[in-house]
Amino acid sequence: MLKNLLAFFFPPLCPVCEKVVNEGICCTCLKGIRLIRGPLCTTCGVPFVSTVPPDHFCGECIKKKKPFSYARSVGIYDGTLLDAIHMLKYKGKTSLARPLGMLMADYLHENDYDILAPVPLHKTRLKERGFNQSLLLGRVIARKHNLHLDYLSLVRLRATRPQVNLKGNERTRNVRGVFEVRKASSFIDKKVLLIDDVYTTGATVSECTSALRKAGARRVGVFTLARVVDL
Ligand SMILES: [Zn+2]
Ligand SMILES: [Zn+2]
Repeated sequence: MLKNLLAFFFPPLCPVCEKVVNEGICCTCLKGIRLIRGPLCTTCGVPFVSTVPPDHFCGECIKKKKPFSYARSVGIYDGTLLDAIHMLKYKGKTSLARPLGMLMADYLHENDYDILAPVPLHKTRLKERGFNQSLLLGRVIARKHNLHLDYLSLVRLRATRPQVNLKGNERTRNVRGVFEVRKASSFIDKKVLLIDDVYTTGATVSECTSALRKAGARRVGVFTLARVVDL
């Protein structure tokens, strides 16, 4: 009764465009998200221009093997998804975490992981922003798939410049040696799925993977909400 009354006076709004909806992100906004479908690179998950299957390695992954087993993303980092991520991260609209996390949870079919680990922020950045968007997304996925979420063991040792302003090689240098596993026992022989909001060049998640593997993780996968793609 109270719930109905509340819904009458305060109808739920689409967290992206603020139109009245039943639940979550509205159909119009959802249509503005370009989901990543195959064929894609078996390892890094980059989608190919050609729509002819099957999946295969991309040129970059043939040249240099990625440290993680594979990376996948829900959609291309443009349109609604880019707007939504900006609103979440830079405008503090944390009500977006649940619907965006649900998009990720629905996309995740293979869930034979032992642990979900969100990419950590440095404590100064965390203080500025007030939350870690990857942790908020990870929480929704963990709940939906009944997976263990560890957001304390992997840490970022220093604040880095935002990757978005840097070029390929600079990105790699910017995050080199930045991550460390604090509680050594946490990841030994575990299958870990790293969670982040955006995959750009993979430099950040590659560094996280190295730290996790050093701490004994058996396998590391990467799962992000969006991915920078030139298509
Ligand atoms: Zn909307
Ligand atoms: Zn690749």
